Amino acid sequence: MKEHLPGSAGGPVIEVSGLTKRYGDVLAVDDVGLSVRAGQTYALLGLNGAGKTTLIRMLLGMITPTAGSARVLGAAVTAGQRSAWARTGYLVEAPAAYPELTVRENLHLYARLRRLNHPGRHVEDIIERLALAPYADRRARTLSMGNLQRLALAKALIHTPDLLILDEPVNGLDPAGVVEIRTLLTGLAHQHGTTVLISSHLLAEVARLGGRIAILHQGRLLAEHDADSLDAHRRRHLKVATRDDATAHRVLREHGYHPEPGLLLTDQRALARPEQVATVLVKAGVPPTELHLVEEDLEAYFLRIVGVGHA
Ligand code: ADP
Ligand code: MG
Repeated sequence: MKEHLPGSAGGPVIEVSGLTKRYGDVLAVDDVGLSVRAGQTYALLGLNGAGKTTLIRMLLGMITPTAGSARVLGAAVTAGQRSAWARTGYLVEAPAAYPELTVRENLHLYARLRRLNHPGRHVEDIIERLALAPYADRRARTLSMGNLQRLALAKALIHTPDLLILDEPVNGLDPAGVVEIRTLLTGLAHQHGTTVLISSHLLAEVARLGGRIAILHQGRLLAEHDADSLDAHRRRHLKVATRDDATAHRVLREHGYHPEPGLLLTDQRALARPEQVATVLVKAGVPPTELHLVEEDLEAYFLRIVGVGHA
């Protein structure tokens, strides 16, 4: 863990209240309040246009809120204010690199911009950590999207920040790259106590990171979950099939169940004791040819609560 730093003494690393950004008729971010504790991994989950980038830009002082306030690392954020910058690493939208410079040259430039002591050491260290060695002497303009993203992450991490803010960091990465970034982020949280704020449109991905998940939709924060308690909010139903579904439907109703079309049962009793459902059907002469518990997957859950699913 890091030594105790002023500004993060026990309090939240990010604290947002009533944060709002309006663009004409569009409320890009609508009265958002949230709080991120030191060492926490906190994910903003939302579809395209949900307001993730706008919220992150406000946290970084890149744009001015229409209303509300944000504190980052103990200091109030105001546009252009940079007091938290030295302890923050970030990646927002399109990864930026000087196209004619090599990966190593880009990182050297950035290390000097960050005024790091021993910039060369930091550069070689981050090249190693992000597996950029094979590309270190390639010009940035020749890199694949995934490797450009890796270079952008290297920039965000070069000074081992206390707070890391990443806007859709796995965009453009192949599946191996996604796993690599996930391992890197969980490692940072565990080894350095780094606080991570990440945005994504991939629920399964942020669920794997652990930590807290805030669901953002049309600028509003709809729900907050712990990644490991998400399960409790997913829908379950018992799917039954027989050779005579009309009869089975009637029999189940007679026994107090509430079958839905397609012989789906969502009754708690049915979910808890599926074998009783089977027994009832067997006794009535319509034995199940199929009976299994179907769990809503994470993406379906997400789409349902933001109201664009078909469930
Ligand atoms: P996300 O990052 O979740 O995809 P954004 O924060 O980029 O969402 O956008 C949220 C909403 O605000 C969208 O409707 C977007 O079109 C709008 N928006 C974002 N930036 C601007 C801008 N500079 N001018 C006008 N509208 C904007
Ligand atoms: Mg965005």
